[in-house]
Amino acid sequence: MLEAIFAPKSIAVIGASPDPTRLGHRVLKNIIDNGYQGAVFAVHPKAQAVLNRPTYSSILNIPEPVDLAVIVIPPQAVLAVVEECGKKGVKGLVVITAGFKEVGGAGKELERQLIALVAHYNMRMVGPNCLGIIDTTTHLNASFAALMPDPGQIAFMSQSGAICTAILDWSKSAEIGFSRFVSLGNKGDVDEVALLEEWGKDPENRVILAYLEGINDGPAFIRTARQVTKDTPVIAIKSGTTAAGTRAISSHTGSLAGSERAYEAAFNQSGIIRAQSMQELFDFALAFAYQPPLQGRRIAIVTNAGGPGIIATDAIERSGLTMAEFTAHTIAYLQEALPPTANVLNPIDVIGDAASDRYRVALKAALADPNVDAVLVLFTPQAGSEPEETANVIAELSADQLKPVLASYMGAVSLGPALTLLNKQRIPSYPFPERAVEALHAMANHYKRTQRIKGEYTTFEVDRDRVHHLFHEVRKAGRVELGEIEAREVMEAYGMRLPQSRLARSPDEAAAIAAEIGFPVVMKISSPDILHKSDIGGVKVGIADSTTARDTYELIEYRARKYSRDATIWGVLVQEQIRKGREVLVGVNRDPQFGPLVVFGLGGIYVEVLKDVAFRLAPLTRQEAAEQVRAIRTYALLKGVRGEPPADVAAAEEILLRVSQLVVDFPEIVEMDMNPLVVHNRGEGATVVDARIILQGG
Ligand code: ADP
Ligand code: MG
Repeated sequence: MLEAIFAPKSIAVIGASPDPTRLGHRVLKNIIDNGYQGAVFAVHPKAQAVLNRPTYSSILNIPEPVDLAVIVIPPQAVLAVVEECGKKGVKGLVVITAGFKEVGGAGKELERQLIALVAHYNMRMVGPNCLGIIDTTTHLNASFAALMPDPGQIAFMSQSGAICTAILDWSKSAEIGFSRFVSLGNKGDVDEVALLEEWGKDPENRVILAYLEGINDGPAFIRTARQVTKDTPVIAIKSGTTAAGTRAISSHTGSLAGSERAYEAAFNQSGIIRAQSMQELFDFALAFAYQPPLQGRRIAIVTNAGGPGIIATDAIERSGLTMAEFTAHTIAYLQEALPPTANVLNPIDVIGDAASDRYRVALKAALADPNVDAVLVLFTPQAGSEPEETANVIAELSADQLKPVLASYMGAVSLGPALTLLNKQRIPSYPFPERAVEALHAMANHYKRTQRIKGEYTTFEVDRDRVHHLFHEVRKAGRVELGEIEAREVMEAYGMRLPQSRLARSPDEAAAIAAEIGFPVVMKISSPDILHKSDIGGVKVGIADSTTARDTYELIEYRARKYSRDATIWGVLVQEQIRKGREVLVGVNRDPQFGPLVVFGLGGIYVEVLKDVAFRLAPLTRQEAAEQVRAIRTYALLKGVRGEPPADVAAAEEILLRVSQLVVDFPEIVEMDMNPLVVHNRGEGATVVDARIILQGG
């Protein structure tokens, strides 16, 4: 519970200077001036009184209990003061002081000690190195921000204090209100996960916004966000990408993955809406904060001009929303009520000379139509237009509606008062229709997410011990990379199907094994030093008889030697030839923040060029595996094109789930690649033809 921080009964400002230019002074003043109801104490080592209140030289001298201490003193004094806070029984801290982890070296150590102290006394802390916190529901402004935001239902957290001040400043002029406003600073204790958890429980926060630069605990973030986003939309903007580690990337998956992909997967799987810009962050926020949920994808447009109507229609279709098709009843009504020149199909064009009455007719009809899930009202200032009257009509008709209504008032100079009216009456308005459509799109996605059937984690019966033992053996031999034969064994232990194969150590042995397996066979070089076998001509398919098998053995061995004189060559693998199917890639790359990142894509040698891949983080639910397979552009090829039979998509999904189980069971797997996994026709399963596994070094 973070009640002591956001709804404290009493507060001490430590470092409350009498000098109005000091931050500590500003913080105290902000608390006093903005209507906070509890007791407020000033603490300063020398001052007698600050802002007309008696001042204590130490928090220990305050005669009453203190819930929250806001600390604004030099960094070297912080530990001693926090110790006193602990002794005093303070429950929450906001440490505004900078000079900790962000300065490196000794600052890092200081922060470590601070965190330990906070934990020791069972306190909760925001900061250090932050702007402070604001809660408009308790009228608490414990920050040095120059402004107090208006009350509202948007909760905002930011890892950058500068972004906080900028947003605050802008929000005043845009008349956008907040429920909570938090500068996270160094996130020594309270981080994005703690705030998500806390804010998700309070309906006062209709939407949660986050500006993030990094995430402390990836798996905890996903777990918490998954829960919170079931009810409360969470919109995040993530800037900067962390280095994905310095380990050399050698697999297909490794070259495709990266922390950007991991964030994308994490946001997707936890239902977080990702904003691509600060503008989007607030465009979306307004729609969620002001309007009811969008419960479908069918949009109606009401406009007084053709051009904007077309632009909006295009944007709707591009984004995957659909243009609503009105019922005959709606059309007949509109025909009667609007002038003959008006367009009564979607978009409804009330024509340039429309006053507010025509907007009333059109909007009312659109909202009443059962085929409409939301209405977008477009307005361009023209002769005879009534911007303010129309704004009032929109507000009146959309009040108590279950369908969202968004507006795009295009223009600025002549629209000022109308825009203020719209905002006051909680109608999100956007200067351009495309932005309104993007907001609708975000709403539709969130709704889909809330409707999603609860995903379950499936586990299969597998032979975990066998894999454990095998990894142990590989490690003992001083290796981190598994050869194909070993990788095969792992896959087999996890219930995946592989072609029959055996290692031959001589041409004669190759011929004998081939005869046993049955022609035709495939032969491949087996060497821990050769990563991509076909690159050196080390794979031959369609070997039809013993003589060719013998010759092929020699040829492959010769090529391998030519490629590298001192490569270890284990022999040549003779393998059952798998009937043709669609070749896909399944792989895993471990992300330092989020853990195992599973990739799925169309396989073969063009993988790196086409980059047609979809990422998800393990563990995967059935639902997520199904979505992942469908997320690639070339999914149509799996379904079958031009009379081709459909591939066994269910088998591919099952492989993803088994791989997910494997990498969750064995965190030491840092990379693995199955390229290709051959997916046969529906009902015939899938076969792992080539596999590599790399273990954590050291
Ligand atoms: P590498 O990726 O190291 O070059 P692979 O084992 O993936 O080697 O083989 C290369 C290609 O040969 C595969 O993409 C596949 O098309 C084909 N191939 C390999 N093994 C078989 C097999 N057992 N049956 C059918 N085709 C195979
Ligand atoms: Mg391969």
